[in-house]
Amino acid sequence: MPKAGETPGAGNFQCTKCGYIVALANATDKLPVCPKCRAVDYIKKK
Ligand SMILES: [Zn+2]
Repeated sequence: MPKAGETPGAGNFQCTKCGYIVALANATDKLPVCPKCRAVDYIKKK
């Protein structure tokens, strides 16, 4: 499971707590702490 601070690659990642979706455009982008609920756990969306 990708977490905030990791660089899981480009794609869409959904916060497991509130469902907020963070889109990463580049493989070097870091997942931020969820801007909505400050959770750190995400799941990768297809
Ligand atoms: Zn959240």
